[in-house]
Amino acid sequence: MKCKYYKKCSGCQLQNLDYPEQLKYKQKQLNTLLSKYGRVERIIPMEHPFNYRNKMQCAFYYDTRQKRLASGVYQSTRGSVVSVDYCMIEDEECQEIARTVTKLCTSFKLKAFDERKGSGFVRHLLIRKGFKTGEVMLVIVTAGVNLPKKTSFVNAVIKAHPSVKTIVQNVSPDGINLTLGERSFVLYGSGYIEDELCGCRFRISPESFYQVNPTQCEILYNTALKLAEIKDTDRVFDAYCGTGTIGIIASKNAGEVLGVELNAAAVYDAVKNAKNNGANNIYFECADAGDYITELTKAGEKFDVVILDPPRAGATVRFLKALCKMKSDRIVYISCNPQTLARDLNFITTHGYRAKKIQPVDMFPHTKHMECVVLLSKN
Ligand code: SAH
Repeated sequence: MKCKYYKKCSGCQLQNLDYPEQLKYKQKQLNTLLSKYGRVERIIPMEHPFNYRNKMQCAFYYDTRQKRLASGVYQSTRGSVVSVDYCMIEDEECQEIARTVTKLCTSFKLKAFDERKGSGFVRHLLIRKGFKTGEVMLVIVTAGVNLPKKTSFVNAVIKAHPSVKTIVQNVSPDGINLTLGERSFVLYGSGYIEDELCGCRFRISPESFYQVNPTQCEILYNTALKLAEIKDTDRVFDAYCGTGTIGIIASKNAGEVLGVELNAAAVYDAVKNAKNNGANNIYFECADAGDYITELTKAGEKFDVVILDPPRAGATVRFLKALCKMKSDRIVYISCNPQTLARDLNFITTHGYRAKKIQPVDMFPHTKHMECVVLLSKN
């Protein structure tokens, strides 16, 4: 066991195993769940499986022993905060910034919000970093609006950490645990940062989805796009497209790409991202993926390739029905949950497709989470 917080924090469920053992454990689980649909390739490991997370969150609390404000990892099952000095999967610079901001809160006399008493001010921090660009975003989540000595506070942060390119205050009066509230104020910079993936540049806003392990994410996207074998005459449908990352990278080799995403902020970023990357053959729609693909199928729209990257719950039956009806040549399913992937593969492979390649990628070393890419083609 490498981390002394292993039991208390419970974020890294496989810490008790050495990395090669973790990979074996994951492989075995994936084989059990997925080998019914085809051979499961060897999971692609991460070369340096430490400090890979580009996103960290920590919650503030009042440390009664030390009699001062402190920050730590929010433990959702217990609903309490665990004091953690060092995390081996989070980026080191992000952790340093969190420590600085925690100290600054004390020197600026900001009080940690106390859920039970309903008193205090600072709730938690969200820090995101572009690994290629080095840009850092700091989101400070508060219970109220008025941040005292705002300008001095901001100046102190950027003086200590010049890589912080933007600071956002998010107001979450009754938000539970680590969620963001509806109101945000940009205190410094543009309100977003940028990063690069597979040669394209992407903006990251406080709330839009961005893969947390960019190193392995490039391997994941490259694997998916290699399997998709996109030609310059192909029409590609990118479902659950987030900020448009996969679709924009794919658009370089495609005839046309259409992306669909439910989160309006992500679609806004996707449109900007397409423009910034000079991709003029990609379009986005803000809608439920299931509703939208059903409409497309009804209208007789045809796509050569469908890429889908749904959240942990997997795709809905409504989505899968329309997907199989569309009769695209190739389907590339990217999944972060092998349980729902197995369930969805069961549907797709009984409705005209077979799995041609199942490639797992280790995106979340030391945790139980598993990512997979599956290529399906028409029977
Ligand atoms: N492909 C993107 C995002 C994958 S995460 C990437 O690699 O970055 C899954 C995305 O699905 C999230 O952006 C989420 O907002 C979106 N989503 C969740 N439910 C959805 C639905 N019903 N319809 C469309 N998109 C949905």
